[in-house]
Amino acid sequence: MSLSTKEPEEISVLWLTAGLGCDGDTIAMTAATRPSLEDLVQGIIPGVPKLRLYNPVLAYEVGDDLLEAFERGANGLLNPFILVVEGSIPDESNKSGGVWAGFGNDSATGQPIPTCRWIDRLACEAWGVVAIGTCAAYGGVHAMAGNPTGAMGLADYLGHDFVSRAGVPIVAVPGCPVQPDAFMETLLYLLRQVAGKAPMIPLDPQGRPEWLFSDTAHEGCGRGGYYEQAQFSDVPGGAHCIVKLGCWGPVVNCNVGKRGWINGVGGCAQVGGVCIGCTMPGFPDKFMPFLEQPPGSLLSAQAVSTYGHSIRTLRRFTQGSLNTEPAWRGPPTRLQSEPDIASEAEVPVGDE
Ligand code: SF4
Ligand code: SF4
Repeated sequence: MSLSTKEPEEISVLWLTAGLGCDGDTIAMTAATRPSLEDLVQGIIPGVPKLRLYNPVLAYEVGDDLLEAFERGANGLLNPFILVVEGSIPDESNKSGGVWAGFGNDSATGQPIPTCRWIDRLACEAWGVVAIGTCAAYGGVHAMAGNPTGAMGLADYLGHDFVSRAGVPIVAVPGCPVQPDAFMETLLYLLRQVAGKAPMIPLDPQGRPEWLFSDTAHEGCGRGGYYEQAQFSDVPGGAHCIVKLGCWGPVVNCNVGKRGWINGVGGCAQVGGVCIGCTMPGFPDKFMPFLEQPPGSLLSAQAVSTYGHSIRTLRRFTQGSLNTEPAWRGPPTRLQSEPDIASEAEVPVGDE
């Protein structure tokens, strides 16, 4: 649902990069192509409001000029806007002083303004709230067991039943970093929803856009045919399936196998990197140690081996036949053995 019946011509995106993170998701956006950030900022896509982007890394505004937009958003003066949060949210209550993560300084005290205070003020005013990257979505690397910051994902912080003013739940687009076009496609969907041209965004129980995260990395992997035939690489750099080197693709919701990374090219397993499950709420703890064969895949890889080799042998046999032209093609032996009709024909009188 949109907030008003009038379609907005512009919509602001307030993008907080001040969670615990590396700005990798912002950097990943510079590789997006379908659409690109530039497409949305220039407003060249018909039926989609033009984007006003306030991201500390990418915005033209700096310093107080940038903070002013966030202040307006927090004070309800920037309707409608989408809040994008990048980086995990620390627990600022678990220490006696200092700030784990902040954005801008409080002019009265000169002290950093905690990121979580910005989220408190902005989330309740936003048309929609999006967690970009696994840190913001579920906590990610900073939320590993034993971390001192108490880092958590946005839904853990705001509550899993949080809905925005427009009734939209938290949208999570995980990845470490996020696949560029997966995020841009999600943003494009939300912009169309703001404009009243798309129904409520469909999300899975983990808050991810369903159409992007319903398949596993394995189901779209370019090495999947090798897996099926039990052709596994034992050392990095091999061309075959890398499950024995630690790939978790068969149980990880991610479309990078199908989609690639930039403009349809690349992607983790495609370029020889094992899937480490970076789009999953259990990342990274449940996928460690990395680069060791996942325990569950020992059984499935063994099961595949029992028939994969035979299937491959049979396929090679059939393939050999199919690589040979049908027997009736070849030199025109039948025509050569026929009498030379033209030379034996009588030459009509009068044509000499
Ligand atoms: S490399 Fe990973 S995702 Fe690709 S086929 Fe092998 S196990 Fe599946
Ligand atoms: S394939 Fe695996 S490691 Fe690569 S982006 Fe997807 S979930 Fe992350």
